[in-house]
Amino acid sequence: MLQMGIKNKENLDGILKFLLDHRLIFDVSEVDNSNSRFIRQTTFWDDFVLDRSGTESQLILERKKIVLLGCGATGSKLLEVLVRSGVNDITIVDYKNLSESNRTSHNYYDKNYVGKPKVEALQDFLLKINKNIEVNPFNEKLFPHTDISKWIPDDSNLIINTLDEPYIGHTSLKVGRYAQIKKIPFYVGGGFDAHLMSSGEIVNPPHTPCIDCIQNTFSNALKDWKPIYTSLDNLPAKLVSKDLVKRSNYIAGGAGGLSAMSSFSANLSALKLVNFLLDDSAFSYDNERLEYLPNKGEMTIFKFEQQPKCKICNE
Ligand SMILES: [Zn+2]
Repeated sequence: MLQMGIKNKENLDGILKFLLDHRLIFDVSEVDNSNSRFIRQTTFWDDFVLDRSGTESQLILERKKIVLLGCGATGSKLLEVLVRSGVNDITIVDYKNLSESNRTSHNYYDKNYVGKPKVEALQDFLLKINKNIEVNPFNEKLFPHTDISKWIPDDSNLIINTLDEPYIGHTSLKVGRYAQIKKIPFYVGGGFDAHLMSSGEIVNPPHTPCIDCIQNTFSNALKDWKPIYTSLDNLPAKLVSKDLVKRSNYIAGGAGGLSAMSSFSANLSALKLVNFLLDDSAFSYDNERLEYLPNKGEMTIFKFEQQPKCKICNE
């Protein structure tokens, strides 16, 4: 400051106080360097979240409890980003085993885990990123009658649902209604949405429409649409032999997709969720799902509205 020509100490103190108060500069003596793992990130939080210092934001993130339903390409990548960011108390749920066909899209694919539960492979992968995290794995399937309270602690800060076909089956409605009763924010993404290069959306009434409203929005928008499944019978014989398909443990079903698509969806979602988990007062509940159209280079927006006849929202 003195070099900049400000010679009056009172003016200098006043300017410094203004800059500090508005979080435009930081007192480096306050920065906690003991946790050097996140030092570059906390510097980013300083600019990203204006409510507090980056160090304080980091501590907020590290106290969050996350439940992930579905350890596919999108969910696992999303969780990987959150763990790299500092989230360290997580529950993961998936009933499938890792297969050769996961090689193309699952970041945590490891040939040593083929045939073993996905939750086991993902748990070990995340522990390699941060050995101090706590991971609670459930190698179980979600049925309509499943008691999901065993997977979801009451003090969870977020449930992420990236099970296949999130809005076609019963999963979102079942988990979403449970989350609503427990007042736990709920995020729906992945599944076929990953193949649309789409973000998910947060369901957290009263900030957003309820899960029933969102489900109905989708039901109306997609009433003439059906997912196209691949199956062994439908594969063109000239393209690939059935023997080859069988040898590679190919599992029929699902829309299929590219690693780039699921990664794009996961990262788009992760950006939103990190912002949310940081308790940022500037966080926007915009009720919008983003969808990227690669051939046009455009991001389109799908907006959710409260349904006028929704009994839950109109209570
Ligand atoms: Zn509603």
